[in-house]
Amino acid sequence: MDTPPHNPSSQTKPGRVVIVSGPSGVGKTTVLKKLFAECDMPLVESISATTRPKRPGEVDGVSYRYLTDEEFQKHLANDNFLESCEVFGRGYWYGTLRGPVTTSLLEGKWILLEIDVEGAAKVLKHYPDAVTIFIHPGSLEELERRLRGRDTETEESLIRRLEVAKRELDAADTYRQIVTNVSVEQTASDICRLLQAEKN
Ligand code: 5GP
Repeated sequence: MDTPPHNPSSQTKPGRVVIVSGPSGVGKTTVLKKLFAECDMPLVESISATTRPKRPGEVDGVSYRYLTDEEFQKHLANDNFLESCEVFGRGYWYGTLRGPVTTSLLEGKWILLEIDVEGAAKVLKHYPDAVTIFIHPGSLEELERRLRGRDTETEESLIRRLEVAKRELDAADTYRQIVTNVSVEQTASDICRLLQAEKN
């Protein structure tokens, strides 16, 4: 019996880049946690690099790769970033390292980048077929209500977050899909269905 020639590239379906953005306070982290836990897709999470300090409960290499300014600049100089920016209103650098994205795609994985709108535009230039999803709060007023409900913000920080959010909401129309976060379960399952539809 003839055995087919060994050709790994024909056996592994190519992966896809998935970009998820949305304003701070919209509930992205919780929604994505549920998506990773429950969606039947070969999803893998991109771990961004950042110069911002670690927050309580965050783990290096899981939440982010925490870099010094020097380390970040070295990666920049070596062209190791697929995209990087000083995220508006934050004062820290964030970036997606090229290596893990390339590896995941070769393995047939769908690599999900949770990045801001500026970073998303840069990634789209490299991967025009990326699935782009914007998690929307419904309205700026609803976002303000949520942020006030968290009770973790000073009035000054709340106003700054809302200014940044307004800029981000203005960019929502540039995304292929806009999903309004009504409930964590619903939003995670909406995103999962979108990805499955893309796959099929
Ligand atoms: P936080 O500091 O609250 O974890 O994230 C702040 C913002 O940075 C969020 O809007 C998040 O989407 C964005 N962000 C996180 N990682 C990256 C990245 O690698 N690149 C870009 N451009 N934005 C990122």
